[in-house]
Amino acid sequence: MGERSSGRRALITGITGQDGSYLAEFLLQQGYEVHGMVRRSSTESSERIAHIQEKLHLHQADLLDQGSLIELVRSAQPREIYNLAAQSFVPTSWAQPGLTGEFTGLGVTRMLEAVRLVDPGIRFYQASSSEMFGRTRETPQNEATPFHPRSPYGVAKAYGHHITVNYRESFGIFAASGILFNHESPRRGREFVTRKISEGVARIKLGLQSELRHGNLDSKRDWGYAPEYVRAMWLMLQQEKPADFVVGSGTHHTPREFAELAFAELNLDPADFLTHDPALLRPAEVDTLLADPSRAQKQLGWRAETGLAELVRIMVHADLEAQERISGRRRRGAGAR
Ligand code: NAP
Repeated sequence: MGERSSGRRALITGITGQDGSYLAEFLLQQGYEVHGMVRRSSTESSERIAHIQEKLHLHQADLLDQGSLIELVRSAQPREIYNLAAQSFVPTSWAQPGLTGEFTGLGVTRMLEAVRLVDPGIRFYQASSSEMFGRTRETPQNEATPFHPRSPYGVAKAYGHHITVNYRESFGIFAASGILFNHESPRRGREFVTRKISEGVARIKLGLQSELRHGNLDSKRDWGYAPEYVRAMWLMLQQEKPADFVVGSGTHHTPREFAELAFAELNLDPADFLTHDPALLRPAEVDTLLADPSRAQKQLGWRAETGLAELVRIMVHADLEAQERISGRRRRGAGAR
């Protein structure tokens, strides 16, 4: 556990996740005292924060338990809260719609209640999602685009967004909702399509896997690089007034393009390895997501820097190195670096 400092203090829920771990690194660099919420588990899930864990103040609490959240905010005494914890995987939200509603939707109200009751002066960031746009009413999507979510996850996130706006309007809490489009990294959960591809391609290169099973490869997504996106969250809480911001790259691509770049990176032919599996199709698909990030660019001075080809390169090589370490195998061929 880190030392208490007199400087800025932040609390991150979901600190063990992709974004939470990058945000913790970023806030530590900014000189923050960083507190994180972790949920009780019989095994540790702190792989992504292991390298900074001694600098962090970790507290056990759960989005399902109001009392634990109030106690968390009381003991951490943050000036800023980043509410990133959620059931974040869209396909799981059809299998566990009730739980997703509890974690991803009502969990936001419980966090806001903790803020209202303990210290309404705390600045609050809510991790909203482009999945709220779902069956898009216009392209590209901005802060005024109506929502039409297409999964229990998207529905729960829309609730989380509206309750954040509602607490801002009802109680004057500095609450900002960041409508983030997909952002990826070597720390992305293994079940998400980009990571499934980068890890699958690395394993195929090493002879550990013979095919990459996939569902729909033709939907369009606006992808960026996660470490850049956590800076946008922080910028939102440094503004004079709270507001909502769309955060994305303003370009979109298909998982097929992602896969083609990933296989090419290791000199493999995707046609030899891609296998369509209808069981992986979603009950309702989101066809096209494309951000209009002009408000974030103008007001926050933020823009995405890493393009798709670079993102794919970063993820494939990180997975290749990880798989080599785990398996003891070494890559062969012209794609080796
Ligand atoms: P992630 O890697 O799946 O991390 C989710 C975090 O939430 C983990 O730390 C997890 O803890 C925690 N959590 C889940 N249920 C909890 C509960 N009941 N109590 C306490 N903690 C709980 O997600 P991410 O990619 O970093 O995304 C961060 C947030 O942004 C999420 O809310 C996500 O929905 C949202 N978002 C993500 C994207 C994206 O492209 N990545 C885009 C838009 C919005 P464990 O380690 O214990 O599981």
